[in-house]
Amino acid sequence: MMSSASETMEKLVSLCKRRGYVFQSSEIYGGLISCWDYGPLGAELKRNIKTFWWDAMTNRRDDIEGLDAAILMHPQVWHTSGHVAEFTDPMVDCKVCKGRFRADQLEHAHCLNKPSKTPETCGQSELTEAKNFNLMFKTFMGPIEDDSAVVFMRPETAQGIYVNFLNVKNSSRQKLPFGIAQIGKAFRNEITPGNFIFRTREFEQMEMQYFVPPAEDETWFEYWREQRWSWYERLGITMTKLRWHEHKDDELAHYAKAAFDIEYEYPFGWQELEGIHNRTDFDLSRHMEASKKDLRHFDEATKEKFIPYIIETSAGCDRTLLTVLVDAYDEVEVKGETRVFLRISPRIAPIKAAIFPLVKKDGMPEYAQNVYADLKKRFKVFYDESGAVGRRYARMDEAGCPFCITVDGQTLEDNTMTVRDRDTMEQSRMTVDEVVAFLAERTAV
Ligand code: ATP
Repeated sequence: MMSSASETMEKLVSLCKRRGYVFQSSEIYGGLISCWDYGPLGAELKRNIKTFWWDAMTNRRDDIEGLDAAILMHPQVWHTSGHVAEFTDPMVDCKVCKGRFRADQLEHAHCLNKPSKTPETCGQSELTEAKNFNLMFKTFMGPIEDDSAVVFMRPETAQGIYVNFLNVKNSSRQKLPFGIAQIGKAFRNEITPGNFIFRTREFEQMEMQYFVPPAEDETWFEYWREQRWSWYERLGITMTKLRWHEHKDDELAHYAKAAFDIEYEYPFGWQELEGIHNRTDFDLSRHMEASKKDLRHFDEATKEKFIPYIIETSAGCDRTLLTVLVDAYDEVEVKGETRVFLRISPRIAPIKAAIFPLVKKDGMPEYAQNVYADLKKRFKVFYDESGAVGRRYARMDEAGCPFCITVDGQTLEDNTMTVRDRDTMEQSRMTVDEVVAFLAERTAV
């Protein structure tokens, strides 16, 4: 029997396919494991999440600059950062079911012969000794495929920021403390990807590195914890489903002085959504030593030179998108029928409003088309005249659209139309100018 967690995830995966949020990659060839494509609504939602993050982290602040570094970097970067030697997960094989698992996550793994059991509780497993497996993808640059041509697909966007620290500081004339933000793809050859888009081998990160005087690290660490927590509140996430997880000494990465994860309660349990780390001067010191470039900051006031400490906020874009979908998913019984609502915040909803003529006659479609053309200049909107209006509402509720605007008989007399709110079900009458003002207010980020 399916557990309710996997049932919930299956419903979500099927809704995502039905409504065009997420499709399996290369589906017509049977799919490629752990790779997913974003469909029309998914691409829009992802873009909105990124804009929401970028806005909060750069445009609304004077102290953070943006960056878009290349995925392929000088291989020395990954030697210096410690990734070549240490970016590994412990892996075990089961000689009986032939499964391959992360040794530190056996309690979440499924035995291949008895999927309801873990490799430790199936009663028949024979696990090998754990061996370290490096998670970086390798490829070759140029036509010759030998060791000298090996380059890595970046496993995090952060290193692109560290190696550009001087470039950004000098070109933007920022003084400490200041940050550099970046959104981009990262690749990890995960041993056990899964849970839909939660853990994949290709994913996008939204990372910000904040450079501070060493003596101020703890203050800024607390500051960024608060900032990132409240960002999820503005994103519309149910805050009781978030919690902090502090990394104790045995969990802390070798470079970190302190680390807190923001965790969300997914159908499959509490899991990390974002990490906030105090990375000390580890990264810049290592790059300074290896590159022989002076990455120290000169403080005009104290005339001191020092290597800044770094406070990192590292969020997964795909994981945020999954969190938004899981959190928004709601089923309601309406007249004996189960109706699905995706209660995505209007701030990030892929489609902000749908415009319907009540019926396909009496000039209503023409009027509604004009409203649609007007609204399209400002918002992502959708026009629909096919089928009963109730079905049209239901389709938009399921697609996550927060508002439906219906042109009816009265519209032709007084130029007002109904605006229906997906979550309260309230309907109010507005003119097109009022609709524009209403949507502008409700969708503002
Ligand atoms: P784990 O230990 O679970 O493998 P991590 O702690 O190494 O992950 P970080 O390096 O801190 O993860 O990555 C920062 C963020 O990037 C995570 O909080 C997550 O949102 C996202 N992320 C990391 N790995 C993946 C992945 N394989 N798929 C999707 N998102 C990921």
